[in-house]
Amino acid sequence: MLKDAKRVVVKVGTSTLTYSNGKINIRRLKTLCEVLSDLQNSGKQVTLVSSGAIGIGAVKLGLKERPQDTPGRQAAATVGQCELMFMYDKLFGEYGHTVGQLLITRSDIENPERRENLINCFDRLFDYDAIPIINENDSVAVEEIVYGDNDNLSAQVAKLVGADVLIILSDIDGFFSANPAEDENAVLIPVVSRIDDELLHMAGPSVSRLGTGGMATKLGAAKLATEAGIDTFIMNGSNPEDIYRLFDGRQIGTHFKKQ
Ligand code: GLU
Repeated sequence: MLKDAKRVVVKVGTSTLTYSNGKINIRRLKTLCEVLSDLQNSGKQVTLVSSGAIGIGAVKLGLKERPQDTPGRQAAATVGQCELMFMYDKLFGEYGHTVGQLLITRSDIENPERRENLINCFDRLFDYDAIPIINENDSVAVEEIVYGDNDNLSAQVAKLVGADVLIILSDIDGFFSANPAEDENAVLIPVVSRIDDELLHMAGPSVSRLGTGGMATKLGAAKLATEAGIDTFIMNGSNPEDIYRLFDGRQIGTHFKKQ
């Protein structure tokens, strides 16, 4: 099924891109860019939704922790976004691929005219065989209008580009019956046919502390995407080569079936 997918959106979070000290995990980033370049070479149209701007910016500015206030986060994002794109440009460039940066705010997607413009831009990037790399425009988005987490943003982008597949790379293996950090009986659920209230409850507040956006936001993203007819996978991003295995039809992470 995945073999035939044409448009693929991959979301990667800060915890996958960086070590716990906040510095870039170069090996992982390199592998991710290599695998995505190869997918693009195989004829797919890859879009990457990448977090990391605020975290990487904070480290580059020598701050001890992520800034808590809005101007601090905005400023860190300006610095980190440059660093991120510098790395992506360099690493994808090594495999002969061109990347384009799109920094999106909620109103760009919700306003019909701006949405249309955005779709046109994506389509042209695909025509040019370039790889769009998306983040929220953290430096200008103010609190009331932000998505806040890139899980939601990745589902919006997947809808926008008419993706066949959304892959959310996380710091856990997929969707579990309970929080695996707290419950040793927690088991990975390989396939979810429908995201109903019971399932949303399972991803409740206790689980949502995991990762950057948490499981609740990932499930919300999966719901949005699957309801738009997009097969969605939540899987561990620690070994990006697992993406090959996913496309080979192996059971990896949790597959949320399109509705
Ligand atoms: N846009 C934020 C950043 O690049 C990340 C949001 C998220 O963690 O989902 O730092």
